[in-house]
Amino acid sequence: MMIRTTEMTYRFLLVASLLFAPFVCATPTETIKQNGLELNLFYGKRSTVNAYLFSDVKELILLDALDSVDDARQLKTLIDQQQLPLKQIFISHGHPDHFIGLAVLNRAFPNADIVVASEGIKQELIGWANWMTERGWMHISMIPKSEKAPRGFDYEGLIKVTSESQLAFDSGKTLRIDRGNLPTETVHYAMLYSEDLHGLFMGDLASNKVHLWLGEGVDAQSLGNWKTLLAVITKRYQSTGVTIYPGHGKPAPLSLLREVSQYIDVFKFAIRTGGNQDAVQTKMMALFPDYSESGYLPFGIEQHLVVQTAKADGH
Ligand SMILES: [Zn+2]
Repeated sequence: MMIRTTEMTYRFLLVASLLFAPFVCATPTETIKQNGLELNLFYGKRSTVNAYLFSDVKELILLDALDSVDDARQLKTLIDQQQLPLKQIFISHGHPDHFIGLAVLNRAFPNADIVVASEGIKQELIGWANWMTERGWMHISMIPKSEKAPRGFDYEGLIKVTSESQLAFDSGKTLRIDRGNLPTETVHYAMLYSEDLHGLFMGDLASNKVHLWLGEGVDAQSLGNWKTLLAVITKRYQSTGVTIYPGHGKPAPLSLLREVSQYIDVFKFAIRTGGNQDAVQTKMMALFPDYSESGYLPFGIEQHLVVQTAKADGH
């Protein structure tokens, strides 16, 4: 099942990058400064994926590494412009669109630790890297180091797992780590919370005007867990005006999580009532006309229609 999951997901990534990338406009970087912490938002150009660069004006910490070498090179330029040492590269979860830029960044900033928040995230990430490599789909710079590829990327050696509750600048500023191990969009994931920015960096647990990945690997239980988590986070922050920084799309107020939750509900409704694959796709496109990454839809629809059909057949 994992193999089908990754195969379909990667097929999607290929198709999406070919079909939709030309229509994604290059988005300028934005900067936010608050309470002595600076945040540079970097919007990927090849797809909607984001990277976030934190600075305490002495050091830098990067969240996620983008999905292409070209975008990673542009991110490197942004980091160079800060003229500060890059301390850490933190990867939120194991999906390839968040780590393909690592080789470029590791070469440019060899002193920056590459960090994930759990062994589960590290192994999920390595699983993707191996699987893509076996099929000849991995960018050459990210092929895992092995006897056959002695100059490959050393995932095992380079990716460190932290058990700390926060990422810390030497100045004392911190980013809190919130870990999760209940299957949602992935099995393992981590969010960062910045008190200085009053911002929650949610990885792919939240997207803004971007279709969610609901393909294989995301079953009915994952959808339930995901909605529950969104409700818990909403309750936790609802009186405080937190800003949500999604894995894809622009930052937004906490109400974004209601939109994400409603998207899941609408998707389930479309699956139940929409008819065949094409009809559900048409319905979703009509209901979310301004959403990017519509290449995600066929995979989610196929996954969930199949389950429903099996149920209807009494299997
Ligand atoms: Zn993503």
